[in-house]
This record gives sequence, C-alpha cells and structure tokens, in this order.
Amino acid sequence: MAVEKPNIVIIYVDDLGWGDLGCYGHPAVRTPHLDRMAAEGMRFTNFYSAAEVCTPSRAALLTGRYPLRNGMYHQQFRVLRRNAKGGLPKEEVTLAEALKSRGYATSMVGKWHLGHLPEHLPPHHGFDSYYGMPYSNDMQPAPDAPEGRPKFFAEKPGYWHTPIIRGTEIVESQPDQRQLTRQYAEEAVKFIKEKKGAPFFLYFAHNFPHVPLFASEKFRGKSPAGFYGDVVEELDWSVGQVLDTLRAEGIEKNTLVFFSSDNGPWLIFDHHGGSAGPLREGKGSTWEGGMRVPGIAWWPGHIQPAVQREVATTMDLFTTCVKLSGATLPDRPLDGIDITPLLQGSGRVEREVFLYYRGPLLHAARLGQWKAHFITRPGYGPGQAENHETPLLFHMGEDPGEKWNRAAEHPEIVTQIKEAVAKKTAGITAAPSQLTETVDGK
Ligand code: MG
Repeated sequence: MAVEKPNIVIIYVDDLGWGDLGCYGHPAVRTPHLDRMAAEGMRFTNFYSAAEVCTPSRAALLTGRYPLRNGMYHQQFRVLRRNAKGGLPKEEVTLAEALKSRGYATSMVGKWHLGHLPEHLPPHHGFDSYYGMPYSNDMQPAPDAPEGRPKFFAEKPGYWHTPIIRGTEIVESQPDQRQLTRQYAEEAVKFIKEKKGAPFFLYFAHNFPHVPLFASEKFRGKSPAGFYGDVVEELDWSVGQVLDTLRAEGIEKNTLVFFSSDNGPWLIFDHHGGSAGPLREGKGSTWEGGMRVPGIAWWPGHIQPAVQREVATTMDLFTTCVKLSGATLPDRPLDGIDITPLLQGSGRVEREVFLYYRGPLLHAARLGQWKAHFITRPGYGPGQAENHETPLLFHMGEDPGEKWNRAAEHPEIVTQIKEAVAKKTAGITAAPSQLTETVDGK
C-alpha cells in the first residue's frame, strides 16, 4: 500500500446488527451505498467488536486494546452513565493522537461515550475538533417523558434532552434527533472538504440505530423494513455522502474508509431493534450476535473487491492505521494486529486467541474456527449467568448460530483454547474501572 500517510475515515454506527445491511443479507433494508462500498471493497464476515456494549467497544477501537486494560469496563454499570465522573484515562494513546504525531488533521463527529465532562471529551484525546453527543441518545430523557419503555416507541423528539457538544461546550440542550444523522453527515462532509489537501483522520460515529429511533422527513415512512429500516437507510445515505465527497474531491485513492458497528442489535426493543442475521443473541451478550458486527473496508486502487472470512477486530484498525501513517506504535501492550496483508488480499496474519469479555469477566474465546464459552447469559433479556466448568464448544464455520455444543466430542480443542486463553490473559493487567465514580455520588 504505497500511499504515504493515507487519509483515514472510520464510520461507526451504534447497535447495528450483523444482519441489518443489504450486503449482509437483510431481505428488506435498502443500503445501496454500503452495498456498493462492500462490492468495491472488502466485506468481513468474521469481524468483531471488542465488547458487547458501547463504552468499552469505543475505548478498544480508539486504543487498540481490550477495555480491561484501560478501565473502560464494569460488571454492573456496563457503560459510562450520564452522571459519570470518569472517562478514557489520559495515559491511553488514541488513534487520533498517534496520527496527529504524523501531521494528520483530526476530527470527531458523533457519539463519543468515553467521558462527557469537558476534560474527557475528544479535544483532550487528540481530536482537533468535535461535534456530537457525548453519550447515547437515550441517556437524558425529558422530565415530562413517560416512564419506561413507551417513551422509546413514541417517536417524540421532545422526550429526549441529550445534548450536542461542539468542542467542549454544549451548543444544543434539546436537539431534534430527527435531524441528527443529516447534521452529522454535513459536519463530516465539511471536514473532508476543508482538509482534503492534508492527511486527515475522521472518526464519524453515528448515534443510530440505537433507540430511540429517529429519521428525517426524507426517510421516515419510506423503508419496506419499517421505522428501523428508515433509520438504517438514512445512515446508509450518510455513508454515501462521505464516499461521494471523497470521489468528487478526487481523493478516494488516498483514503481508507472503514465501516463498522459498536455491538450487536438491541433485541429487547422488538421492531425498533435490529437483527444479527444467523448469529445468536444480540447487544449485551457474548454470543456471536452481541459482538460480531459488519466490517467493510474501502480504498479504491488498494483494496480489491473481496469477501474476507478471516477473523479481524476493531482493535486491529488501531494498529493497521498507525502503521499505514508511518507513526510509531505506542510502547505498551496492544491487542490489535496489522491486518494490511488481509486488506491486500495477499496473505494471512498470525492471529492469537480472541477474547470475549463482558465487563471484567472472560465469557468466551475464539481460536481459529472454534469458540469456547466459559460463562453464558442472555444479552439484556431475563436469565442468570451460567458458569460452564466444561466450556461449551461451537464450530464457527458449520454452526455460526451456536446451536450444537461439541465439547464432549473435542476435549483436545477445549484444552487448546484454555491454554491459549491462559497465555493471553497472563499478559493482561486489569486497570481500575473508570465507570464507578459519579459527580453526584448517586
Ligand atoms: Mg452500542
């Protein structure tokens, strides 16, 4: 990949399932821009987020490390709450900081969720500019919004007071979320047009299709897949805006674009939640549907059209992008690897065991085509965690839906995975959780 200091754009969506896009087999959602991106680029079928919920996923994406290493995890709270005091520790090196050291212009548009107090916001983590919501779009209901679930299905923007921040200042305290996807797309396009002459890094993280769902007038009521489809189709439009801008500016051959999701679909929200396709469970779960997500890489002239079935993770994006920029990898343990050989379609990579943590606990591990579960529990549904003294064992190739436990048949594979896990986890030191402290002591 001969381009020196390529531009990097990461488009990240929230709670989009593995099965929610046309190019991943959804029968009704129309995603022509993402389908074209996949057809022109590389579509990963075994691509993983490093966590099953928002905050830890984002920490891993931006640092190339399991959330356990940087304190962005918690057994009970799961994500940073609205009254949280903490954020991504300063000592972490984000992708923005690494790229900035090579002269990149850096911007973030969208949902952050790595600490909402001014000192934790993107401008303090290597981003020259920031525009977006500091956390999930459901985290600040209006005082007069109904209790519980009904407000999520009401389609009333007035029920939600989640703020919008520019830089480190709140610029809108009660935004109309129906305009959010469009506003984000406009910001992203503006940044690309302004910085097209220099190497740039854009981290473009949408709030949707996380509930409550909203779509603009142009998309509402249009999709054969209902309201969820409307929302995803508008996200697809925003991806088209970015790719069209890169083409129009003539910089598409200098720009690597990667699209992914922070975790699987939030299934407890019925028709307002998405689909993990053939995968089991969804958001909040370490079954495949919780952590295996769409992953599409696009870089005309550099990435040849292909379907990539090797395992890859969001943490790899850190290592890969830092290397592509010519920057030095930070001196600390990293869990992502350079997947340039996969992107080039020319080779394989040495992949160690992939770990599925839920909070501080290791629930499962994948080595090659086999996955072992040590602890299982439903995502956000009812039911308690179950410990498996003899791990459950599933073959990801013949059984992506994790239906047939093969542990009794293959004790030697269980042993092999346990050994790989022991070796890997021996090198992981858990940082203190940053998710416990609150500003109001509640
Ligand atoms: Mg999420």
